Amino acid sequence: MLSVDEAQARILAHVRRQPAVAVPIPRALGRVLVGELAAPVAIPPWDNAAMDGYAVRAADTVGADEEPVSLQVLEVIGAGSVARHEVGPGQCSAIMTGAPMPPGADAVVVVEDTDGATSGSVAIRCAARPGKHVRREGEAVAIGDVVACPGDVLGAGHLGLLASLGLTEVLVARRPRLAVVSTGDEVIPPGRPLGPGQIYSSNNVALAAAIEEAGGVALDLGNVPDDPDAIARTLREAARDADAVLTTGGVSVGHFDHVKEVMGELGAGIDFWKVRMKPGKPLAFGVLGGVPLFGLPGNPVSCLVNFVQFVRPWLRTSMGDARPFLPVVAAVAGEDFRDRPGRARFLRVRLSWGSDGIVATSTGIQSSGAVVSMARADGLLVVPHDQPAPSEGDAVRVQLLHSRFAQQPTAGTGV
Ligand code: AMP
Ligand code: MG
Repeated sequence: MLSVDEAQARILAHVRRQPAVAVPIPRALGRVLVGELAAPVAIPPWDNAAMDGYAVRAADTVGADEEPVSLQVLEVIGAGSVARHEVGPGQCSAIMTGAPMPPGADAVVVVEDTDGATSGSVAIRCAARPGKHVRREGEAVAIGDVVACPGDVLGAGHLGLLASLGLTEVLVARRPRLAVVSTGDEVIPPGRPLGPGQIYSSNNVALAAAIEEAGGVALDLGNVPDDPDAIARTLREAARDADAVLTTGGVSVGHFDHVKEVMGELGAGIDFWKVRMKPGKPLAFGVLGGVPLFGLPGNPVSCLVNFVQFVRPWLRTSMGDARPFLPVVAAVAGEDFRDRPGRARFLRVRLSWGSDGIVATSTGIQSSGAVVSMARADGLLVVPHDQPAPSEGDAVRVQLLHSRFAQQPTAGTGV
């Protein structure tokens, strides 16, 4: 049996990078940057006031802390306008935050340190050093500075930065299209009454959501019965349209488990089909005409756990994400977990904020068929194959499934 790492490495050997597409910046949230981004303009583009106050010559304010200095007010410079006068000795101009510094001035005295006069003369009650409350041209970003790198995932901060540089579009990786097919004679879509022996498919909708959450485009092809011809037909068609094909069910050793055999017959060159992990041991992986086929287990928990361990890294890497794996945090086991070593385990846990950091507690039933344990989970507690289940107080590692974990003792940051 392969280790999880070995299986991941084999899968990642089949990544084809997605081409770059230009996307309007307001729609680029969460996308992965393709090229290096150099600033076409400086930020700020010119020296400007960081506070509302008076643009002064710092030398004129020496001693103002002891004895107020009176300066002649030349004009009021608002943000969006430009100074009409040069500031000479004994002079100043009222200036608002964001307005360009007038020539001659080298510092800003905040309005609170003056008497606030906007004509005649103003009393300055604070000495300023040169550069005080002045944002220098290019101090944040100089022309040509690299502001974002290939593999960066664009967040609100990045998008704001790109907009502040005057850009309207950005080159990001195309979102890969992943087809989802569930197999099984017993599986029907929700919305109809269940017949004898039937269950609703949770895998189609769960995988489609997991794909979208990971930044891909999901093509839900519904369900095919446990019939080798139907599976073969669907796989062939799916591999023509999609960048990867995910099936669920039919990969273990049951009488009606045809997916592995069909993948072999299609010439998909099955690379492996068992991984030393729990849940999710049966995982078929092959490549059909350059398109990876992931034969995921039918059990809903195994299916999603396999998705995050294997499909998601493939998907993120295909988009060039520099960090394609789930983030991992250190935590403390909040209870005794029970299971046996032998395979790597991914235990579904909730995370909360304790006095010593993050505490991981079980989401309840850990059966691979009980998708409720995934619905409640903030993360997957990873137990190496050769280690026993953690006891209360043990240090553990947890893969984060999302970033809304850790119920804090207060509503916000507590400050
Ligand atoms: P299989 O891998 O086909 O043997 O399926 C393993 C278990 O997962 C069985 O109990 C199936 O009924 C269940 N299962 C298979 N496909 C789905 C699905 N799409 N949604 C929910 N459960 C499923
Ligand atoms: Mg089945």
